[in-house]
Amino acid sequence: MLATTIPLAIAVFAYSIYTFPVQEIDINLMFLWITMLILCSFTHIQIPRTKTHVTLSDLFIFITFLTYGGEAATILAMSEILLTCFISRRKGLNMNNSTIIMNVGIAGITTFATAATATYFFGQINLIAKSVEISYLLLLLLYVSGVQFLLNSIYATLFTFSKTNKDIRQIWYEYCLNALVIYVASAITAGIIVKGLHNIDPVLISISLVVAFIGYFTYRRNVDDVRDTAELAENAERQRAEQAEHHIKELQGHIAQQEVTEKALRESREKFRHAAYHDGLTDLPNRNLFTKKLQFLLKKAKEDTGFHFAVLFLDLNRFKTVNDSLGHSTGDSLIVGVAMRLAALMRKADIVARLNGDEFAIILNGIEGVDDVIHFAELVREKLSLPFSLDERQVFTGVSIGIAIGGKTYEDAEDILRDADIAMYQAKKSEKHYSVFDKKMHTTAVKLLEVETDLRYAIEEDEFVAYYQPIVDLKSMNLMGFEALMRWNHPTRGLVPPGEFIPVSENTGLIIPMTLWMLRDSCEKLASWRATNSENESLIMSVNLSGKHFAQNDLVEQVKKILNETGVPPQSIKLEITESAVMDNAEQVISILNQLKRVGIKLSIDDFGTGYSSLSYLHRFPIDTLKIDRSFVSSMENGTENGEIVRTVIALAKALNLDIIAEGIETIHQLHQLKILGAEYGQGYLFSRPLPLDETEKLLEDRGRWKNIMSNRNIPVLQHRKSDEIINLGDL
Ligand code: C2E
Ligand code: CA
Ligand code: CA
Repeated sequence: MLATTIPLAIAVFAYSIYTFPVQEIDINLMFLWITMLILCSFTHIQIPRTKTHVTLSDLFIFITFLTYGGEAATILAMSEILLTCFISRRKGLNMNNSTIIMNVGIAGITTFATAATATYFFGQINLIAKSVEISYLLLLLLYVSGVQFLLNSIYATLFTFSKTNKDIRQIWYEYCLNALVIYVASAITAGIIVKGLHNIDPVLISISLVVAFIGYFTYRRNVDDVRDTAELAENAERQRAEQAEHHIKELQGHIAQQEVTEKALRESREKFRHAAYHDGLTDLPNRNLFTKKLQFLLKKAKEDTGFHFAVLFLDLNRFKTVNDSLGHSTGDSLIVGVAMRLAALMRKADIVARLNGDEFAIILNGIEGVDDVIHFAELVREKLSLPFSLDERQVFTGVSIGIAIGGKTYEDAEDILRDADIAMYQAKKSEKHYSVFDKKMHTTAVKLLEVETDLRYAIEEDEFVAYYQPIVDLKSMNLMGFEALMRWNHPTRGLVPPGEFIPVSENTGLIIPMTLWMLRDSCEKLASWRATNSENESLIMSVNLSGKHFAQNDLVEQVKKILNETGVPPQSIKLEITESAVMDNAEQVISILNQLKRVGIKLSIDDFGTGYSSLSYLHRFPIDTLKIDRSFVSSMENGTENGEIVRTVIALAKALNLDIIAEGIETIHQLHQLKILGAEYGQGYLFSRPLPLDETEKLLEDRGRWKNIMSNRNIPVLQHRKSDEIINLGDL
């Protein structure tokens, strides 16, 4: 475009200069041009919302055209545009040289073309303007402004299009359309002014010019107003758009947040579901899921009578010891280790669950026969017998497995699990460490359950009785005191020995009220004996205390209360705690024993030698007495291992400044030996079996009865002897 425009513009400019009638240059023309150049440079305004600029230049160019002809108008148009462009550039408008050249070129070419065609159609222009034919002049003006507009806008549109690539129609609309009005208005005003110059007096011209200026400035002010309003409207619109955008963003934010919440909700729901059916520590299925699966298999077994499955109930051996000695976190690690080994043994359709603590259960889904299951149980035992490396330590555990075979005979998941549990208890006693459930086991379990039920009534119905076994001072052979031993006077079974009901009572927690009853009863009896005979004031009453009491907080308070209420001095009461009970939870036991010690009570470790006492602990227990277990005393022969044990225990007791009571003395020989070894006290059938109250009270009348025991072959205890308990009198 530039390539065609520049030569054309140069040609036009040269032609105009050449043909311009120099003789016509007069003072008026000079005034007109200078005024115009000054005014136009400073008085152009942009029509709001368009790219159109309004200046008074068109007016002056039309005037020049009508008065001096096309050549003068062309020169004027080109010089005016050139000046305006430079001024604009100096004001900071971004305009390069080619744009300036184009603008000047377009102005020259269009003005020249307009003038040339107008001369062609209308004849010599400056003559027409002077003629009075107004309608002809108007036609000329419309033609001139129309062509000028058309050429200008085509040029400008093409030029802008080549630079911006915008839509042509949009460019024309934005940049040019409004100019039509300006051109027409300018042309008509120019016509009026020129006409006025020739026909009416100069005053009118001056007035017209003033009016034109007033009009221009009013227009300009209006345009400013319009621009301000437009700006306000634009701002408001922008604000609205920004607000809308803001709302959209907010909405999008809300939606995103809702999606996040929904996802979190879904995840937490899944987590809850998982937690409801899985064990937190091992992530294995828990009892809930296990019973659900069992229920499903039982249904399947009902429909398909050939279908069998097995339930294995597993309990770790010595887990409590690991937990107590190595700490709970090692205990937890062991459980996790076991879970991993078990999970690795499972086939796809099998399931292993952690029921609680150290109990696991397995379902073998679909089995051929019991042999399969036993084989699997042996494999499990083998895998779990290998050591676990926990916290840089090798930890060993074993497992006892109870097996129940599931089939159509079972109704409920809990039933088959219960039977596997019963078999597991049996397995604990068996050497193989596994056991398959049979009906007999159920009968035994039911019996145990009966004992448990009956025991609850026994407390309410006051069915317990105390028996008293004398403890003898082996130096003086005098009665030192008694051990109170519990019997259950069962309404149908008669006297039940403690071995049958104490373990059950310990498992059910009934041992706590039973012991408290025993302690109160013994204190009451002792109080009454002390009251009747001052000799009895030195008697010591031993009462057995179960390990279960150490989980109880108020033991010390209860003991104090009983002592207060019965009036027995605390040093007359001795509590016996088995060695295994104190070692199970040593720290807690030491703390409670210290409290009992502060009350003034005497303390004794029972069954000493059977519970693998740690010597490092022993000196920390605030005890007074060691009771050597019956098993050592009964097989104590010269030179045997047990004989050595008894000797060592007595030496140990002496080193720790403790009394010794030897339990289960049945023969004079044992008595003799113990005396030689320096045991202070003794208890056993040789002196007396545990006696009911009335016989005990009789014995109190005859407390020196054992004085001659070493020489007396007819000792009264023989009357109580059972046929299978042989007293070796030949040693006497
Ligand atoms: P223990 O505390 O070791 O009580 C001694 C047991 O040995 C008594 O059995 C007693 O009859 C028996 N015994 C004593 N001398 C001889 C003997 O020369 N030869 C033989 N073969 N046995 C002898 P008992 O009364 O059947 O009590 C058994 C166990 O029951 C007790 O052992 C004790 O652990 C527990 N027990 C008894 N009464 C109570 C009680 O009131 N509370 C608690 N927690 N346990 C009790
Ligand atoms: Ca005892
Ligand atoms: Ca004992």
